[in-house]
Amino acid sequence: MHSGALFHGLSAVERAHLRELTTLFLRQKSLSGAQGLEVTTEMALAVAAQACVPILKLGLDYYEGWVEIIIYPGAFRVARNSADEAGVVSLQEQDLSGESWTRGPVILSWDDVAFDLGASRPGQNVVVHEFAHKLDMLNGDANGMPPLHSDMVRQQWTEALSRAFQHLQQQLEHHYPPDINPYAATNPAEFFAVVSEYFFTDPHRLMQRYPAVYEQLMLFYRQDPMQRAGSEQSE
Ligand SMILES: [Zn+2]
Repeated sequence: MHSGALFHGLSAVERAHLRELTTLFLRQKSLSGAQGLEVTTEMALAVAAQACVPILKLGLDYYEGWVEIIIYPGAFRVARNSADEAGVVSLQEQDLSGESWTRGPVILSWDDVAFDLGASRPGQNVVVHEFAHKLDMLNGDANGMPPLHSDMVRQQWTEALSRAFQHLQQQLEHHYPPDINPYAATNPAEFFAVVSEYFFTDPHRLMQRYPAVYEQLMLFYRQDPMQRAGSEQSE
């Protein structure tokens, strides 16, 4: 499976663990197609394997409390009434490529998932984005702070992420080229989801621009993708 940067540099042991997690994930979650889309085994595997990279060192318990994954053929539109009160966070305002609901489904556009698989866009991965929201929602509505480990310092997390968030907002206010995808400036929840995309698919850029954020994500995800990318051998 071609998969862009997400699986770069995983050791044989990590790959075996990822396969195991992917199998368990598919047993626990229900994947269904919307608008007549038939979800093939290959599609299900592609979503599951990508979703399991962020929890490779955390375990499947981090995706507990919900089961449904709905896949649209392409970008989808959702009618919004009191949707925000239901704890919805959206990747885009109108045509959505992904969406996560608190204690509810993850919704994905297959076009976008397939694009990430075919040609990697450094810093972008819709599956990582939506599942980062799921991790954020483990302790309530998405607010940019997932449940931190006991060896992490809450204040360090908050300082690192809020400083980078403010820096990005200032760049946009002054019409400077933003260091990362400007969508991250939407709110702290989107910031966490977008920096998670960079962490796994363009770790060097995140380390270069926001090293304190990289460090906090490394502590949370218990992974160091930059080191993996550096040790990549041709296969
Ligand atoms: Zn989002």
